[in-house]
Amino acid sequence: MIEAETIPRIDGFQGTLFDRNHPGYDEARRVYNGMFDRRPLLVARCSSADDVIAALAYARRERLPVSVYGGGHAVTGLAVCDDGLCVDLRGMKGIAVDPVARTCRAGAGLTWGEFDQATAAHGLAVTGGRATSTGISGLALGSGSGWLERKMGFTCDNLIKVELVTADGREVVASEIENPDLFWGVRGGGGNFGVVTAFHFRLMQLPARLLGGALVYPVEMAAEVIRNFRDVFPGAPDEVGGAISLTSTPDAPIFPSSVRGRAAVLVHLLYAGEYEAGEFATAAIRAFGPPAADLVGPTSYVQFQATTPLFPGSRNYWTADFYDDLPDEAVDILAVAARDPISPHTNIFIAPGGGYASRIPEDANAFGERRALFNIHFLASWQDASFDAEGTRRIKAVSTAMKPWSTGRVYLNYIGNEGQARIDNAFGPTKVARLRELKAKWDPENFFCNNQNISPTGQR
Ligand SMILES: Cc1cc2nc3c(=O)[nH]c(=O)nc-3n(C[C@H](O)[C@H](O)[C@H](O)COP(=O)(O)OP(=O)(O)OC[C@H]3O[C@@H](n4cnc5c(N)ncnc54)[C@H](O)[C@@H]3O)c2cc1C
Repeated sequence: MIEAETIPRIDGFQGTLFDRNHPGYDEARRVYNGMFDRRPLLVARCSSADDVIAALAYARRERLPVSVYGGGHAVTGLAVCDDGLCVDLRGMKGIAVDPVARTCRAGAGLTWGEFDQATAAHGLAVTGGRATSTGISGLALGSGSGWLERKMGFTCDNLIKVELVTADGREVVASEIENPDLFWGVRGGGGNFGVVTAFHFRLMQLPARLLGGALVYPVEMAAEVIRNFRDVFPGAPDEVGGAISLTSTPDAPIFPSSVRGRAAVLVHLLYAGEYEAGEFATAAIRAFGPPAADLVGPTSYVQFQATTPLFPGSRNYWTADFYDDLPDEAVDILAVAARDPISPHTNIFIAPGGGYASRIPEDANAFGERRALFNIHFLASWQDASFDAEGTRRIKAVSTAMKPWSTGRVYLNYIGNEGQARIDNAFGPTKVARLRELKAKWDPENFFCNNQNISPTGQR
């Protein structure tokens, strides 16, 4: 075992090593969720797949636990582990777009902001995370929900290949042709099977001028706005992307006083097609009562992607469930919660199902829930550690009150450390069994366990 004071060397490693004495150590180990302050022995910022291989070999030799850092946005904080080696992919940000084939090869350390900029330069996009700073890696491996999912499917549905370093240090490719079992598992099964160093995506052409933005309603209208959204959205054309946010608006002049700096209901809309067609297709949603602020208008995909507010370092407790229906009783629970926000940055985010994503065969990949009509993300966020117990208790209470209507399936990218049963519920028993077999084949010793873990035996 290495000592904390030893300045380590990794043979052949070309990237940057941050040990506990390095001036960049604290920045390198920081994750989005301020609840976690883990102190690895070493952060190995890799510049290539060879660096990943060298770092993993070093960790094995020194018997160090390993974590993998894509963008550090998992609410679990598991990109970093205590007293171990963090394989940091943020040195791997190369992206090559093939505008003719409409594909790209993207380095595993890219954020969605960086990725979107590069593909938008060619008028192309893939379903991506709704925040610019989220890593493409963790999001895509956990399936990936975004504004384009009703048109294109989840992020993982658009993967054509991954390059991956296995637990025993081999560099392999997984696609429909090479290692198809592994390819099935990495699309939704998280980072359980190896370190993905590059993702190859199929991309979609998008017009430069899109219809997008938010309709902002006073919180007193929450129940009727949610009911309208519930009734209209699931049957909307595939091109209509959107969601509801039960949150608070900033104190900004763009909002009239009835919705400025206070609890409000935001109906987000993005039409993935020609602007004029978008006006027509979203008419039923927009026709519902006049909003206090209508911020829907011309935008670009990159601009729209950058509208999600970011609070890095804030303290977060998240949970999530899928729903087949939101009867009025369930809507009323949400409306009450909307009127009494836990904190200004708390956001109960209701994403609609339907569209192309719901028509992809269930067994296409590991992702476990395509048919649900709603995915609700209970996202509570605050600044002060003294509020941890209260904030956590209150958001859990809302999600618990909603359980009677959940499908029992869980959206893995939106949950924290909630135990093995919840991880298994993301997939259902048949897929869990298949994922365990895959784990036994590709990582029998559960070397990669700092994640939403699927172990060969079901025990961590
Ligand atoms: C502000 C914000 C907005 C979000 N918006 C969305 C959204 O719109 N849609 C959505 O689906 N999710 C969203 N999420 C959740 C997000 O998808 C997950 O948090 C995801 O894990 C983040 O990926 P990351 O690479 O940043 O995370 P990390 O914390 O770096 O990694 C997450 C997990 O994956 C593992 N991992 C990461 N990269 C690799 C790799 N290359 N190979 C193997 N394992 C790896 C890590 O070990 C870790 O366990 C959001 C999160 C935040 C904080």
